[in-house]
Amino acid sequence: MGKKKYVYYFGDGKAEGKGSMRELLGGKGAGLAEMTNLKITVPSGFTITTEACLEYFKSKKKYPPGMWEQTLQGLKRVEKSMKAGFGDSKNPLLVSVRSGARASMPGMMDTVLNLGLNDVTVKALAQKTNNPRFAMDAYRRFITMFGSVVMDIHRDKFESVLHQTKKTFGVKSDTDIPVEGLASLVTQFKDVVLRETRRKFPDDPFEQLKMGINAVFTSWFGDRAVTYRKIYDIPDTWGTAVNVQSMVFGNMGDTSGTGVAFTRDPSSGVRKFFGEFLLNAQGEDVVAGIRTPLPVNALKDKLPSAYKTLMTTQKTLEKHYRDMQDMEFTIQEGKLYMLQTRVGKRTGIASVRIAVEMVKEGLITKKEAVRRVDPDQIAQYLYPIFEPSEEKKFQPIGRGLPAGPGAASGKIALTPEQAVTMKARGEKTILVRKETSPDDIHGMYASEGFLTATGGMTSHAAVVARQMGKVCVAGCEDVEVLEGQGKVRIGPSVFQEGDSISLNGFTGFVYGGMLSVVPSEVVQVIQGNMTAKESEKYRLFATLLSWADQIRHLKVRANADAPDQAQIARGFGAEGIGLCRTEHMFFAEDRAPIMEAMILASTPEKREKYLAQLLPLQREDFIGLYRQMKGFPVTIRLLDPPLHEFLPKREQLMVDIARLELTNGSASEIEEKKFILERVDDLHEYNPMLGLRGCRLGITMPEITRMQVRAIMEAACEVAKEGKKIIPEIMIPLVGMATEMKAQKAIIKEVANATMKQCGVKLSYLVGTMIELPRAAVTARQIAEDAEFFSFGTNDLTQTTYGLSRDDAFRFTGFYREHHLLDFDPFAVLDQEGVGAVMRLAMNEGRVTRPNIKLGICGEHGGEPSSVEFCHSLGLHYVSCSPYRVAIARLAAAQAVLNAEGQKPATKSKKKVGKASTKTKAHARRVTATTKKPKAKTKARPRKTKARR
Ligand code: ADP
Ligand code: MG
Ligand code: MG
Repeated sequence: MGKKKYVYYFGDGKAEGKGSMRELLGGKGAGLAEMTNLKITVPSGFTITTEACLEYFKSKKKYPPGMWEQTLQGLKRVEKSMKAGFGDSKNPLLVSVRSGARASMPGMMDTVLNLGLNDVTVKALAQKTNNPRFAMDAYRRFITMFGSVVMDIHRDKFESVLHQTKKTFGVKSDTDIPVEGLASLVTQFKDVVLRETRRKFPDDPFEQLKMGINAVFTSWFGDRAVTYRKIYDIPDTWGTAVNVQSMVFGNMGDTSGTGVAFTRDPSSGVRKFFGEFLLNAQGEDVVAGIRTPLPVNALKDKLPSAYKTLMTTQKTLEKHYRDMQDMEFTIQEGKLYMLQTRVGKRTGIASVRIAVEMVKEGLITKKEAVRRVDPDQIAQYLYPIFEPSEEKKFQPIGRGLPAGPGAASGKIALTPEQAVTMKARGEKTILVRKETSPDDIHGMYASEGFLTATGGMTSHAAVVARQMGKVCVAGCEDVEVLEGQGKVRIGPSVFQEGDSISLNGFTGFVYGGMLSVVPSEVVQVIQGNMTAKESEKYRLFATLLSWADQIRHLKVRANADAPDQAQIARGFGAEGIGLCRTEHMFFAEDRAPIMEAMILASTPEKREKYLAQLLPLQREDFIGLYRQMKGFPVTIRLLDPPLHEFLPKREQLMVDIARLELTNGSASEIEEKKFILERVDDLHEYNPMLGLRGCRLGITMPEITRMQVRAIMEAACEVAKEGKKIIPEIMIPLVGMATEMKAQKAIIKEVANATMKQCGVKLSYLVGTMIELPRAAVTARQIAEDAEFFSFGTNDLTQTTYGLSRDDAFRFTGFYREHHLLDFDPFAVLDQEGVGAVMRLAMNEGRVTRPNIKLGICGEHGGEPSSVEFCHSLGLHYVSCSPYRVAIARLAAAQAVLNAEGQKPATKSKKKVGKASTKTKAHARRVTATTKKPKAKTKARPRKTKARR
């Protein structure tokens, strides 16, 4: 024929495609092919490729040449395999039309079941199965699905007819509607179609098929799919495949059913076959959460032979894929059919557990385990829980399924729109719904957690929660949303929108009111409130990270200013402190007034008096840090912030003075305020970010540098006397010229040597600088004559390289993002192209003078996975990040090594099977990092917030 192959058949133990052809067949199609080849029972069918979808769009919604012919040929093969004819008036074949992109997009694309039914074939189906009720049930489902998915009629239109019919017949459940009720539904549904679209429901199965295929193709650019792709950074250019597959029926009575199952628990990761099913139901029912399903183990008694096959199948699949599988199955009159398998989505908690246990089971290597866990996801180990003793005192008002781990409290939002509005007001919300659907995504994104009345562990709400890392309690029968009243009943109580509730996503309990939330088990072990022995979670977490440590080259340090932070950092495995911001030490209640007085001092002599008071306080701080860090390096940065941050606000002073004058306040008080105002005016800067800060401070007021160096060295000497190894690293901020470096280093050396002499201790110590200015990078060669290390301060370096204020940029970067001028937030994700190039320049220049110069990064980026990977590729010695991100950085640093190995061609193709390529992975992370904008922002500005306290 010479034509391109667009259609891949699978059936009767043989498939044209295979598991590695995800890109062409989509995840679903590849899985169906692979299962078929593994001799697992899969209803026969065929996959129309993603390529066909892309060409369909390219040619303005026309099928590429040959596609339809191949589709008809595929259909012929299916007919042969099923011994039935599509549209046949005696022995009709029904099919499903299923979408399936490369990456699984749960609920995003629409599937039509029972396609091929019309008034003639439905009769034949009834006769063939000797089950008129079932045939009619399939027919009414088909019209609903086809009507809503393909013909774009709102589902409610069908739902309300269904509701009315149930009422008429006095039944509660769909399964209780008698056959004549179903027949009446079919007629009424057809009327709905005619009324809503002004066209008749299509009778011709081939027309139905064509319309179905078109709808799947078109849904690739549907709103829901586009939104989903935006959030998860999936490119539009992938396209979706279409799977046409012969139907099997879970709704043929009580020996039939449908379900979903996981080879392990996707929430906890426990190795326990886990799933849910509904008897006498069709696929969608379980996922849509219309009825609350039974646990899969209940099949053991109800349908033992199907259960046995399911057990063997799940074992085969997990062993074959060497990963946890998420499967869909249908049982038709006692016989099991598999309809889907894929690598299962899981929580971060489950992800670690599964990886560690699969190594112990010999399924995967340690390297593979490290590669599999998404660094951002292990943040879930740091999830808060409710304060246990407080939770005990609370009486749950309801209990649902623990579908998304963590603990969340917030105000009730009953619609996604309301959740978005409340979030914009800065309120924490819990979205409460009967069930969620893909149309709710924006509201789910805006809330802390979800509570649903129906649906199981695999309902839409549950799947989305685990993916987004939100708390979720699903299928809570105690919840009744009082439609149209803005109220919800939960157990005994009725709540208004805006009232507070709390959800425990580990147990499924729902509480009225706001419970206080405490840190996770891992954090408790680290803080010493729990032992490692008591916490299995901690042990699994620590095991995986210990494997990561064996792989990584980058050292991981923490940014910490106080001993308690340093302790946490050590607990997370930090190998030193990369940045201690000494100014943070001065914001404490007892110190701020001394600091203020020091700044206000008009002469160096007066200033020294206050500095002398600060000296012992600083020394104690440093001793605390050194003791916590037990021999690991500690980099202390000399005072950095603009001084005015420590002073009262100018406007406030003016108001105070005016008030004092009006009320005849004391002259001395007025005098003092006026003096302060004068100093504040003296220190006032039009552009403080480019003003008297960084080393400019220590250069113009060297007594500050002197005091700090003395405190550092006295502390070091004291800890050295305790017998601990210690190498102080003194870091000068915001150097832009080699002369600045030289001047400060001279002072540091002089004071350090004098102090050591006094203490009678000889220590080696390092003096280095932050690289935060492009000029520093350009002249790094000269700066390195005095600097013994460089630490990239990428918060400021990003600001100065872009000329973009990190405090104000948000005013327009949103616009930039929307219009694709910027595709990530450079303050959250390192800009490799620009800022990265400046870093590279500084490294290379610095190494010319000092080949062994020590190199690290201490900006926020040091804990962001794609940036860590970049730092590895640059060849830095360490990254330093906030204590809570240390574990993430350790894992990311190990993955950087593995990804670099993986880029060798030998392993490349293999990697693509299960995971996106390195580039896409880093890119995807980038988006997650940047969409969590508010978090990143508060983190990037701790100094400001504190100063304004
Ligand atoms: P999704 O990607 O949303 O899960 P699917 O294509 O997997 O969509 O189908 C939706 C539901 O319909 C699933 O429960 C699936 O098992 C069921 N289903 C799909 N095709 C068939 C079929 N040929 N026979 C029976 N059930 C099917
Ligand atoms: Mg599915
Ligand atoms: Mg800085």
